[in-house]
Amino acid sequence: MSLIEQASRAIGDARELALACHIGPDGDALGSMLGLGIAAQTAGKKVVASFGSPYVVPGNLSFLPTELLVAPEDFPKNPETMVVLDAGSADRLGELAVNAKAAATVVVIDHHVTNQGFGDIPLVDPDAAATGELVAMILDSLRWPITPKIATCLHTAIVTDTGRFQYTNTRPETLTLAARLVAAGAQPDEISRHVYEEAPFGYLKAAGAALSRAELDEELSLVTTFITQDDLTSAGIDWGDIDNLINTIRLAQEADSAVIAKVHDDGRVKISMRSRGATDVGALAAELGGGGHRLAAGFTYNGDVAGALNEIRTRIGRYR
Ligand code: 5GP
Ligand code: MN
Repeated sequence: MSLIEQASRAIGDARELALACHIGPDGDALGSMLGLGIAAQTAGKKVVASFGSPYVVPGNLSFLPTELLVAPEDFPKNPETMVVLDAGSADRLGELAVNAKAAATVVVIDHHVTNQGFGDIPLVDPDAAATGELVAMILDSLRWPITPKIATCLHTAIVTDTGRFQYTNTRPETLTLAARLVAAGAQPDEISRHVYEEAPFGYLKAAGAALSRAELDEELSLVTTFITQDDLTSAGIDWGDIDNLINTIRLAQEADSAVIAKVHDDGRVKISMRSRGATDVGALAAELGGGGHRLAAGFTYNGDVAGALNEIRTRIGRYR
């Protein structure tokens, strides 16, 4: 049996499903999880969905149908069937990694190239542009219909992980699926408006602070900057509001790679990296304990910004 068939069977046979996606969820994490969750609920299953703390839905994704979401502390402790979406490794689940360990069956649906295959049924396809593509294949295999709500979730997953169908991961199949989702009721104009065309005013202030600190290292073909909890607090915004900021940093045409360091108050620095193509930032992130894709990846560093950026600078030449 193929992994798609195994995953579909485990999901289709379950009476109750507990779904989880990666911490700090993006459009693919939430969209693929909620799309699958709503489809399963429509098929008569008892479904809950969650992600590890901080348990905050990013503002630009709060238009998604979030009624299945429960706080991580209310997530089943010993789920019969747990489905993990868009997480490249178990530690990306935050505190819900414990629940996954205690689950009878864990189905993993993911597309990260750094995913080494965890869980009982690891449906991992790095060729899929988004985890949402794999969810659509599961729904088709179970003959579960795609309602407008599900279409909205899956279209959001695909739009965000392909950068609006601009990244190299966009395949003919991706566009064919997007067309199907629009026919099924997804509204691309509304999705794009929420995700890309609006932000709280404070975003401008926080982005301004981060952009004013950007540094270009021409030798390493690297642009870097950082943003702190203080920047966000004074602007009245949250971490989930700055997910798109890396897209402005990486505009610098002199640099192949772009890095933003997100400095949390607890001594952790969350690194987001992007590459124009010459640098395998996924492999670099994996060496530093994180992961992702060839051209978009991240890791967490315990220490200060200078230390985190130094880890990158001393290694990046090896990933070109
Ligand atoms: P972002 O920079 O948007 O947070 O993440 C870019 C990509 O790298 C996403 O696919 C995300 O799932 C992945 N990623 C970010 N941080 C980590 C991390 O700490 N560990 C792993 N395994 N993947 C990460
Ligand atoms: Mn994804």
